[in-house]
Amino acid sequence: MNERREMEERMAIEGRKQKQDSDYVFHELTRSICPECKRVIDAQVLLRANRVYMRKRCPEHGWFEGLISSDAQWYVESARFNKPGTIPLEFSTEVHDGCPLDCGLCPEHKQHTCLALIEVNTACNLDCPVCFANAGAGYNLTLADVERMLDRFVELEGNPEVVQFSGGEPTIHPQILDFVRAAIDRKIPYVMINTNGLRIAEDDEFLEALAELRPAIYFQFDGFEPRTYAMIRGQDLLQTKLKALDRLAEIDLDVALVAAIERGVNEHEIGAIVRFGLQHPAVRGVVFQPVTHVGRHIPFDPMQRMTIPDVLGAIVHQGEGVFVKEDFVPVPCCFPTCQVNTYLYVDGEQVIPLPRVLDVEEYLDYITNRTFPDIPSFSEIRTALEGMWSSSAVAGSDGLASRFQCACGPGIDLPEDLSHLRKHVFQISIKDFLDAYTFNVKQVMKCCVGVLVPDGRMIPFCAYNSVGYREQVRAELAMRHRKAHDAV
Ligand code: SF4
Ligand code: SF4
Ligand code: SF4
Repeated sequence: MNERREMEERMAIEGRKQKQDSDYVFHELTRSICPECKRVIDAQVLLRANRVYMRKRCPEHGWFEGLISSDAQWYVESARFNKPGTIPLEFSTEVHDGCPLDCGLCPEHKQHTCLALIEVNTACNLDCPVCFANAGAGYNLTLADVERMLDRFVELEGNPEVVQFSGGEPTIHPQILDFVRAAIDRKIPYVMINTNGLRIAEDDEFLEALAELRPAIYFQFDGFEPRTYAMIRGQDLLQTKLKALDRLAEIDLDVALVAAIERGVNEHEIGAIVRFGLQHPAVRGVVFQPVTHVGRHIPFDPMQRMTIPDVLGAIVHQGEGVFVKEDFVPVPCCFPTCQVNTYLYVDGEQVIPLPRVLDVEEYLDYITNRTFPDIPSFSEIRTALEGMWSSSAVAGSDGLASRFQCACGPGIDLPEDLSHLRKHVFQISIKDFLDAYTFNVKQVMKCCVGVLVPDGRMIPFCAYNSVGYREQVRAELAMRHRKAHDAV
């Protein structure tokens, strides 16, 4: 018996109080928000039984605790994939109340915006039980609004990389095609439409216009089972989705499937979604998003939510031996616990993850690699990987194919022709957006995904959804919309 145990037993016999060890490691103190009233409060990040939790107290609503990551080791080690940020050309707000109340971007923000979202409307042709945007009545942006916002994006970034039109459902906005044209006219290289696919499945004229404009399609696709669709989308949409995807393949547009994953609903479909994506001629990538519990969502347990390591584990276990955990590397452009990516070279049955032929971690580790290894092309390869491990990487684009070519060098026998190669490079991303239980200022301060709003602000996406900006902007624009309507 060791000394300590002996002492404890002696104290117990004597009826004296004993000190207790806590069952967690105190990892850090940060700032978050109260899930009830959204006020900004201190938050502790705790490691317990190889999981990561956020624990915080609101003076009015008491204590809250939620799961941040199901793998503490992954969470802690991902810190080394944190790249120095790039400062935007201009800021739109001043530092006044502190993060996250000064968005943005305010001069304290640590990264420029790789991807700007423009939410063109709030209406939708679906009424999903899971909808972070809480789609419904509200507003439609005008072409003048969108042109001004795109001009602002150019002012902020100089050479903006990606704009994504979202909503509501952007394809039902009567001027969505004009919006896409306006972005193309401003030479924004990648223009995306984030859609549920319903209009694409049915409207031939719309499809023809898309074939001409060629935006990338960010396509909501949550699985195959009727129960999945019933729970997440309110109705079985599989056949409509398959039809829309086939029509997109006919016009040769590039699609990323976007799957919202909820615990107890569709996590068992993750492997099947990847397999389907790899085989479908329109699909160049899959994005998994654990459901963000903002806007509309089904009841959930904050201690059991899906996190990046859960989705990653499902990809590996349901992947029939194709993937290992190490194929996925955190994205250094944003805060590294926000997102992981991998890239595959796909040729028929052959699937080769890039990290099997190149030590991607070696290149994207910004903490332990203080000097570049003695490899002449190190900087060139790192630059290519930085472009791929970024929110500006668009699945199916020539830019991505050329970076893949540069990064893997002679590691894989690749076709020279980029337009051919881009159909063989496949992206898998897992993005864990923040909600009121997981909100961490450390992450939003380095966010590289912004929501552009008509007054010229660029608000980091997770702050927009969680802190109250969405509600404010929507109320203002809905009021303007009503006034314009009444004046007619
Ligand atoms: S998230 Fe960024 S822009 Fe918003 S308040 Fe914090 S530092 Fe400023
Ligand atoms: S999740 Fe998308 S498709 Fe569903 S209601 Fe919301 S905006 Fe519409
Ligand atoms: S949108 Fe949210 S999850 Fe994505 S980079 Fe920004 S803070 Fe991180």
